[in-house]
Amino acid sequence: MSAPQRVEDTATPHRVVILGAGYAGMSAAIQLAARVRGQKDVQVTVVNAQERFTERLRLHMTASGQQPAELSIPQLLAGTGARFVRGWVTAVDAEARTVRIDDDRVLHYDTLVYGLGGVADTPAVPGAEEHAYTLNSVQDAQLLADRLARLGSGTVAVVGSGLTGVETAAEIAERHPELHVVLLGRHEPGTDMHPKVRAHLHSGLRRLGVEVRSGVEVAKVLPDAVRPASGESVAAEVVVWTSGTRVSPLAAAAGLTVDERGRIVTDQVLRSVSHPQVYAVGDAAAVRQGYGVMHGTCQGGMPTGVHAAVSIVRTLEGKQPKPFRFGFYHTPVSLGRRDAVVQFTRPDNSPRRVYMTGRPAAWYKETVTASPWPTWGRMKKMPASGAIWPRGGRFTRKVQAR
Ligand SMILES: Cc1cc2nc3c(=O)[nH]c(=O)nc-3n(C[C@H](O)[C@H](O)[C@H](O)COP(=O)(O)OP(=O)(O)OC[C@H]3O[C@@H](n4cnc5c(N)ncnc54)[C@H](O)[C@@H]3O)c2cc1C
Repeated sequence: MSAPQRVEDTATPHRVVILGAGYAGMSAAIQLAARVRGQKDVQVTVVNAQERFTERLRLHMTASGQQPAELSIPQLLAGTGARFVRGWVTAVDAEARTVRIDDDRVLHYDTLVYGLGGVADTPAVPGAEEHAYTLNSVQDAQLLADRLARLGSGTVAVVGSGLTGVETAAEIAERHPELHVVLLGRHEPGTDMHPKVRAHLHSGLRRLGVEVRSGVEVAKVLPDAVRPASGESVAAEVVVWTSGTRVSPLAAAAGLTVDERGRIVTDQVLRSVSHPQVYAVGDAAAVRQGYGVMHGTCQGGMPTGVHAAVSIVRTLEGKQPKPFRFGFYHTPVSLGRRDAVVQFTRPDNSPRRVYMTGRPAAWYKETVTASPWPTWGRMKKMPASGAIWPRGGRFTRKVQAR
């Protein structure tokens, strides 16, 4: 690990620009602003496409016609000292240390926190980009909700048997009993879960009338069907694509070292391995732990944001940042509004024998989903309250130094 650079007192503040105000970016922004407020000559700027916070964890609810709360990012940042810039980031110049916004504004940074998240991988299969609906944004989810509301009858094919696909299929089936919902994917849903949890997940999907087709490799999406690599096409009035994760090409275009999926490869303290002035957080980062590279979740994304903020503060104070350590602890999956499963996990995300199902699990899932906003509210006053998460014990103790 290279020695931290102390920032000497100068007339110009140290400019930290945070790209993306999702779960990870917001955690970084609030944590950093709370820690430097009134103490340091640091200017924190948050850039995001919209003023409204995107509750990605609820986008399947939005897609089925439910109205999520309007959560305002500038309102949450009020009083923290952080500045909000609404805009679409179009380029990062990692050498000049600038960020370009779509209205041609240019922001200069000394430290960048890159948290632009990820979206479903529609380019992976021909036709998905043109014909499939996604849950990539509130607008996309609302487009799908409008289409479903007008449909009246027919088939909705949800592609992707991961947890987003399961939640989406269940939610649509519960809100639209008049529609036939088919969940298609390579793997059996809940394949990594304890057999009893998997059994409950399948009985929940059956109860809602969701038809599950596993072992399907989708080769093409047509305007009115999904064509598998082998076997018959599945006719569908609506196709929803939830499979895979694609990240913004901006990091790779800026010359930052990225992995095969375009995520920024980080060192132990969450800095880019090629550009140490850049921290990467959330779904846009490839963060290696003792058990492997973390998969993208809100559960792990929020701690990356907090840790990046703490590392920046330590560096500004001339201290060495600490290695990031995180262990997964649960996988909550909703099955409509009244049912769910919660698989408690080991730090490496493998299932434990402990789980919840049914209404208590639905309550647990809702509590988790609603928790980020109050967490940030508390963090504004007590930054340390946001710095508590499982460090993963022996699973993460021996992270290899890069
Ligand atoms: C339906 C659904 C359910 C999910 N359920 C769970 C769950 O139960 N538990 C869990 O842990 N995870 C869940 N996830 C995954 C979770 O939502 C993501 O892992 C999490 O949102 C990642 O946080 P992030 O901050 O990295 O990115 P995001 O939350 O996606 O935030 C990225 C932000 O950057 C903005 N942005 C992107 N590009 C630009 C640009 N060029 N210019 C300006 N702004 C930009 C976006 O608008 C957004 O505000 C779910 C995802 C979905 C879709």
